[in-house]
Amino acid sequence: MDIGSTEMMIVMQESATGEDVDRILERLDSAGARGHVSTGDLATVIGVVGERDVIAGLPLEAYPGVDKVVPILKPYKLVSREFRRSDTVITVGGTSLGGGHVALIAGPCSVETREQLLEAAVSAQQAGATMLRGGAYKPRTSPYAFQGLGVEGLEILAEAREATGLPIVTELMDPRHLEAVAKYCDIIQIGARNMQNFQLLSAVGEVSRPVLLKRGLAATIDELLMAAEYILKEGNANVILCERGIRTFEMATRNTLDISAVPILKQRSHLPVVVDPSHAAGKVDLVEPLSLAAIAAGADGLMIEMHPTPEIALSDGAQSLDPGQFARVSKRIQDIIDWAGKTLG
Ligand code: PEP
Ligand code: MN
Repeated sequence: MDIGSTEMMIVMQESATGEDVDRILERLDSAGARGHVSTGDLATVIGVVGERDVIAGLPLEAYPGVDKVVPILKPYKLVSREFRRSDTVITVGGTSLGGGHVALIAGPCSVETREQLLEAAVSAQQAGATMLRGGAYKPRTSPYAFQGLGVEGLEILAEAREATGLPIVTELMDPRHLEAVAKYCDIIQIGARNMQNFQLLSAVGEVSRPVLLKRGLAATIDELLMAAEYILKEGNANVILCERGIRTFEMATRNTLDISAVPILKQRSHLPVVVDPSHAAGKVDLVEPLSLAAIAAGADGLMIEMHPTPEIALSDGAQSLDPGQFARVSKRIQDIIDWAGKTLG
């Protein structure tokens, strides 16, 4: 076995102390490697990423408190279930996602006006949503389509959080906007089209805001996990994976919701998984069945597009529920959350 592999896990003994862990982190640091600590129910594990030769030369097994040193053979390391057995739970603004907590994220595709967003936010909250979504920077297929309100949109989102208490999820497309987006939002969304924008991934890895990472239009499950690895590698462990449909030959829907991605991601990774039935289906009447299927398959959350007046939406109106439809779908979703033995938020 190639013990000189660049990535490995140091499994600490149950009796290991904080000082034992710190001693190892300092040693790794001085050797130019990086240790990522995961505190599990039974044991603390340190994931090590660094130069192969350097790590191989460190007598890590000899350090006090170390139980064993095990190479991680999967291509993704820090996101893997091997590295962390227990589910990652992400908590923002008093509401949680993962480990039995299901998030219901709702709101329009784009922030269009103050009135539109505030109306959407209040309707979402009244119907049981636990977080508010809305894009201020929009990745549009056509350069002539509405591109989003930018900073003005972020300010409107922050106002909606003030009014409703709902944490904000919004998309970041360009590292130059990172500071502004991180300042206003609670969760940074990386869109499907940027799933393999590695510089953007590394940039959000360096901030403390949780990241909702959407699966690329033609990305495999392992490519999604490798993209998440870029974020964790920089130190940000709060990543949410999002299945939003992939391109297939099937033309009946906008994309094909890969429902099997949900249990597979949960087997392979400790990160929470959210499903976006709106972009998967592209149609209002498919949002409910796909939402129910997602929760039944083990998803930790849903991201649903909802607009006060979908018929005049500037983007994705055809897949956006109106407030009445959202309230009805939300009830069914809450029933299936109960059935799954989980809690909303
Ligand atoms: C969105 O959430 O509005 C969006 C653009 O999604 P995706 O990146 O999945 O297409
Ligand atoms: Mn959209």
